Amino acid sequence: MANTWITDMTHFLDAEGRIAAQLLSRRLIHHLGSIVAAVTSESAETSRELEIKCRRKPGRKPCPGTIHAGFEPGTSNIIWHCPVCGDRGLIQRWQSTPWDKGARPELPKIQRVTYRRGMLSDPEDLSGLESTVLEGPALSREIIVAIHDNELLGASGNYGDPLVGDPLQYDELIIEHTGGTTRIALFNRAIMLFTTDDEFYKQVHRVCCAIDKVVDATQNL
Ligand SMILES: [Zn+2]
Repeated sequence: MANTWITDMTHFLDAEGRIAAQLLSRRLIHHLGSIVAAVTSESAETSRELEIKCRRKPGRKPCPGTIHAGFEPGTSNIIWHCPVCGDRGLIQRWQSTPWDKGARPELPKIQRVTYRRGMLSDPEDLSGLESTVLEGPALSREIIVAIHDNELLGASGNYGDPLVGDPLQYDELIIEHTGGTTRIALFNRAIMLFTTDDEFYKQVHRVCCAIDKVVDATQNL
């Protein structure tokens, strides 16, 4: 039985999220990146044969197999194998890498996303917030993928400490979807993110990153 390669695609990126220059020529990385690109080009729910040759050379002869790959059911991993030689692997954290073509096996049905943000001098008074509403064509696939990848639909609640900071930084995301409405409010995200390593705040950080993606997408419209 061949080894199972467990790969985290973010290990191949530099600080700016680009493919690290010194790694570009490595065959294994090209091979794994091609698998991610092929799988995320179609939202197929089952593993399928890709147009990618097996890279192994058992006994110095190239394996004649082609790679089968797909989204692992119930997780966000991509799994692949060669049916001829048994080479196989599992790929993690490929989302939003240069190889990610954006397809997912199942995306949430979202009707509207409202993003409100601003600085508050009174936590009870939300009237001065800047508001962005995304629906119809403005609610791009990229935003829905970001919400899906960051598991935002289950993250309703208030995050952060409303008693820290004056004025108070406030971010709020309201997601209307077929399962109901998810409302996420963040207090003082900038202060919180850099002052703790707690697991709770890592969850908040994921929420913040997804909100940034929503805002970036809005500004690019
Ligand atoms: Zn093979």
